[in-house]
Amino acid sequence: MGKIKRQYRVISVHQTFNGQLKVNWKREYKKEFLCPQCNEPRIKFHIHQKTLCRVSWCCASCQLTGSLTQRVPAYIFRYRSDLECPNPNCQEIGNDGQKGWIYQIGKKGKLFTCRFCGVGFIPNSSHPSSWHSRQNQQKLSAFKFDEDTWDLRHFYENTTNRKRLNFHDIKPDWYKFQVKKYIQFQINSQSSAESILHFLSYFRQFGAIIQQKSIGSITKINREVILQFIDSIRTQASTTIYKKVHALKQFF
Ligand SMILES: [Zn+2]
Ligand SMILES: [Zn+2]
Repeated sequence: MGKIKRQYRVISVHQTFNGQLKVNWKREYKKEFLCPQCNEPRIKFHIHQKTLCRVSWCCASCQLTGSLTQRVPAYIFRYRSDLECPNPNCQEIGNDGQKGWIYQIGKKGKLFTCRFCGVGFIPNSSHPSSWHSRQNQQKLSAFKFDEDTWDLRHFYENTTNRKRLNFHDIKPDWYKFQVKKYIQFQINSQSSAESILHFLSYFRQFGAIIQQKSIGSITKINREVILQFIDSIRTQASTTIYKKVHALKQFF
């Protein structure tokens, strides 16, 4: 007489934009994951009703455990770095140096809000009373290199929703000056508005390391600083790292 074996169906449930995704871990898992602690492929999955996706994992080698998913707030997973807050009174700076922190709300995908000031708006709405139309009517004042916000309309006729380059949080001052010079050079060399925005976000990240290490001039940036930058972005896709390091190479 064989033992009666209870059949557990270890199925995780994930909410996606196109309904629910169910993964049967007994059937579909082919040892693709390594334990983040000991790097062994000995991850076991089991039912855990209290977690969001109902499955958690445990490493048979080092006993590390974890959940398959973590709750991510809407302002993170629906974040739109290409949009700026249209509210003229909102002065806070978002993660990528843009004005405000915009994310999508509502199911139809048209309505957006700002995490900082809570304004709701429809981007590109042509209704005369909409934020966008009013913003477009705002006059463009003369370009000043010393200002910490550069309006992209000075350099590009048809830009997307993002209209400003923001240097506020790029520190220290000597570095900000170099970054501005470099950005100006790139604009004059016909780089696209999108690449300029990318460059600026890379330099913002690099600036955080310069500040952390209290580096006082461009000549003090050595191999160690660059390596630390690469290390800080190591979790990102290799093409992204390549782009960032390439941008830095051009800078120096
Ligand atoms: Zn382990
Ligand atoms: Zn705002």
